[in-house]
Amino acid sequence: MSDTSGAMIEAIGLSKEYGLFAATQNISFSVPRGQVAAFLGPNGAGKSTTMKLLTGFLAPTAGTAKIGGFDVSTDRLKAAEILGYLPENGPLYLEMTPSEILDFLGSARGMTRSRLNERLEFVANKCSLKGVWGKPISKLSKGYRQRVGMAQALLHDPQVLILDEPTSGLDPNQTHDVRELILSLAKTKTILLSTHILQEVRAVCSRVILINEGRLVLDGTVDDLEQGERGMEARFRELTGAAK
Ligand code: ADP
Repeated sequence: MSDTSGAMIEAIGLSKEYGLFAATQNISFSVPRGQVAAFLGPNGAGKSTTMKLLTGFLAPTAGTAKIGGFDVSTDRLKAAEILGYLPENGPLYLEMTPSEILDFLGSARGMTRSRLNERLEFVANKCSLKGVWGKPISKLSKGYRQRVGMAQALLHDPQVLILDEPTSGLDPNQTHDVRELILSLAKTKTILLSTHILQEVRAVCSRVILINEGRLVLDGTVDDLEQGERGMEARFRELTGAAK
């Protein structure tokens, strides 16, 4: 069933255990339509794991993930139709060119030839890929690989984007370009993006969801994280146990 409450991304008591180790414990939050939310936490906090649970790439030990009201484990195809995901490790098929991989993924999604051509043109422009369109991904820099990943996520014009560290490993110019891209997408999409760069939060997000050691420790506005004079860095350190 499609949701009517306006929540486009929902984590409902999500837990993931690897043997005896709990990577995430009872994580619950929801992101309403049109919001750009930052998913923050130190390395190893459980951000990527939660994103894989939300996108249906991993099955939870307990809890439910919903995209646009569709349960990602029982209504997988409907959820996938409205979801674009940038995974943490970028594109997988390194021997393919951006043109080939995007064409392949669009066909696999059942897009018609004319629609796919239109979307290929759009993402090639939007992600500035024209100059490397026919080069194998193995020969591309980290920045360009990240753009191919963004193009993959945007190809079917999804309403919801889950972006795992979209600016990780990029130089300042590339970081600026990706932030501008996210800001332009924010006008029409619901976005959850993970980062451990606090500047990024102020630049693109209105909402902050902070986790530490697999647990939710703050869900609020950017102002809640800043708390006046003390600043975001101090508050982050306090909430994630590093404020000594
Ligand atoms: P983050 O994205 O916040 O850096 P992750 O979600 O990647 O954190 O990892 C959370 C914790 O789960 C880490 O301690 C990590 O080592 C552990 N972890 C992640 N994947 C696995 C796995 N496949 N098997 C065992 N432990 C894992």
